[in-house]
Amino acid sequence: MTKAKVRYLPVKIKGRPGFKMAYWDIDSGKEGPCLLVTAALHGNEVQGSEVIRRFCPVAEKSIIRGRMILVPFVNLPALWNRRPHIISTLAEPRGQLEKKKVKNKVVLMPKDPMVNINRTWPGDPRGNESQQLACIIFKGIFEQATHNIDLHCYNRFTGAAAIPEGCEKAVNFAKLSAFPFLRQSAKPLDLSKEFKGTAPLSDWFNLNGRTAFTVEFSGQYVVLEKQVRIGVRALTNCSKHLGMFRGKPEGLEKTVVIEQNLLKMVTAPFGGLFIENGLTAGDFVKKGSVIGWLFSDRSLKTKEIKAPVDGYLYAYGHRKPLCDVDLAAMHPYADRGDNLAVIVKSSQKR
Ligand SMILES: [Zn+2]
Repeated sequence: MTKAKVRYLPVKIKGRPGFKMAYWDIDSGKEGPCLLVTAALHGNEVQGSEVIRRFCPVAEKSIIRGRMILVPFVNLPALWNRRPHIISTLAEPRGQLEKKKVKNKVVLMPKDPMVNINRTWPGDPRGNESQQLACIIFKGIFEQATHNIDLHCYNRFTGAAAIPEGCEKAVNFAKLSAFPFLRQSAKPLDLSKEFKGTAPLSDWFNLNGRTAFTVEFSGQYVVLEKQVRIGVRALTNCSKHLGMFRGKPEGLEKTVVIEQNLLKMVTAPFGGLFIENGLTAGDFVKKGSVIGWLFSDRSLKTKEIKAPVDGYLYAYGHRKPLCDVDLAAMHPYADRGDNLAVIVKSSQKR
């Protein structure tokens, strides 16, 4: 048994009152990896915070070597704002937007991409609020870690996934998490390149001789028991793999690896209200089973929507872009052609 110490990092951002960021430090006193687990980099993504709270006593009991640094609330000002970023307002996932001309087209772009703390590492003491906060946390805590698991959440329509950046060591580490889905990031990471301050935290680790991956739980603004259990198992598995706990990782056979050629989209044949059939992202469906109903607002007719293949629901339910932060985008009214589900083809339930 190694008692977790609560430590406090003083934070002062220009123009805001200072505060202390609390985190747990569990040091076995024996040489070994330093595993950093981070959550709530985005203030509306809090399932990882509960995962860390539940994992802490497990780590106190099980740690046999190395050190764990558990940070349940990385971006406290964003948490207090209850939105993704420190200055986020209504339905703006990337901070304030402004019209910009890109290739002769006017598009809405973030005024300042650095509003997103996960584009600022290792931070900048002269930058905006997010950059200043990143700099203090990075120097004060993150820099000493050898491994990082960064816990995020995306919209509730998409199944929980481990998302390693495209390099082998990150993929191999992420595979041990036994997350329902594993999705490799689209761009391969060139380990010979230097880190640029516009990439996620896990990139910084992977490009600086360390190992990290990001996870996305299913559901923002909420804490769901099923997701929390997935998270605690992932952290336990990875600690076992690093030799920090005894035992072997469990549940590895359950992970569904997402490959583009295995994805099958289910789209709305006409406009209507999509009624879900009690399923959630991550569930297994058989070909021909009813996954929901489409209720036409024009004819008042109803059509059964069936799974076209056997497989796992990687996404389920009608949603529009920005469904992570905008209630209207979570509305079950689908236009013709909208996605109602995305199934990863798989012949057998695992
Ligand atoms: Zn996030």
